[in-house]
Amino acid sequence: MDQFQSEGGELMVGGIPLRRLAERIGQTPFYAYDRELLTRRVAELRAALPAGIKIHYAMKANPMPAVVDHMARLVDGIDVASGRELKVALDSGANPHEISFAGPGKRHEELRQAVAAGILINIESFREVSELAAIRQATGWPVRVAVRVNPDFELKSSGMKMGGGPKQFGVDAEQVPALLAEIGQAGLAFEGFHLFAGSQNLRPEAIVEAQRKCFDLALRLAESAPSAVKFLNLGGGFGIPYFPGEQRLDLSSISANLAAIATEAREKLPEAEIVIELGRYLVGEAGIYVCKILDRKVSRGHTFLVADGGLHHHLSASGNFGQVIRKNYPVTIGDRSDAPAGEAVSVVGPLCTPLDILADRMALPEAHPGNLVVIFQSGAYGASASPQAFLDQPRVVEVLV
Ligand SMILES: *Cc1c(COP(=O)(O)O)cnc(C)c1O
Repeated sequence: MDQFQSEGGELMVGGIPLRRLAERIGQTPFYAYDRELLTRRVAELRAALPAGIKIHYAMKANPMPAVVDHMARLVDGIDVASGRELKVALDSGANPHEISFAGPGKRHEELRQAVAAGILINIESFREVSELAAIRQATGWPVRVAVRVNPDFELKSSGMKMGGGPKQFGVDAEQVPALLAEIGQAGLAFEGFHLFAGSQNLRPEAIVEAQRKCFDLALRLAESAPSAVKFLNLGGGFGIPYFPGEQRLDLSSISANLAAIATEAREKLPEAEIVIELGRYLVGEAGIYVCKILDRKVSRGHTFLVADGGLHHHLSASGNFGQVIRKNYPVTIGDRSDAPAGEAVSVVGPLCTPLDILADRMALPEAHPGNLVVIFQSGAYGASASPQAFLDQPRVVEVLV
């Protein structure tokens, strides 16, 4: 992957050769995130998008505190999905005014935490309205809310659909007017709408269509709102390339569309700030997962490289995090990256399950015990999205370099 350079056959991470970095960390397996790549990604995105569009970081993609601290300085807000993520976001120094909280099952304690912190709560049910009303009565504190809407359409060709049809997320668009009335009666401070149609989309035309439809839906719903819309989160869903044949997303049409939306919003929702929220797109390409080869075995003519890391650290690369058909993430041998990818091998982990595969029949440079396997595109949905306790192997270490 071209965002990482090699020197003398060795991958460089944040200016440090991979083997030196492994020594510095003192163990494999590890995740390494490149600070400079994170900074560059946000800068490039800002340059590509029209001025005035706010960028939020959906921290569930990578909740490592050092990463969240770094991102908080670059983006305009942080989206959290639990009370514990909220703590990390607040610790990062992010302005509570710019933190929002979404999730289909917010516990009462989490709602109280959110109110006490003064963040924006994306309401996803009628139950949340009554609980927040009670919290407001008990504390007297203002309760800032937006409505997370389950749109009446689907995001086409999204890796993971999270809106349209029956969904546990948000409130169906057709129920939103009734919900808005309850929000008004309860004296909650209504600020706007949150629409999120899906994730990992690499088709600009599908994202354009979804953002346009989300905006039109928000305009319709705003007619039932108890006060002016100040916040309009149009979601994101920007994907990154993982598999052969996939290309990086071309932002030009998305940007033009957002510019048109922003212009229209200035007239129709003059107080609204337009936000997109991204997780994977901001952090995914800046991270690698590194493990060491323990064994090289040939079974009936097929070579297996058995590594000290696997699905317990990197469930998505193993193909078990929602993928329908398993495909290989981009992989290399990080301390032999200039050698020809001359042999078709499988890289497997140490777990006693055939699901523990990191690369299946993939052409790689010849590798032996001690060499380092690198999985690219691993900055999002890695360590925190993996079942680390499974088989009680050593935990993975994460570093921001
Ligand atoms: C998970 C999630 C995101 C981030 O999705 P990515 O594909 O990582 O960009 C954004 N918004 C909401 C509401 C989410 O649940």
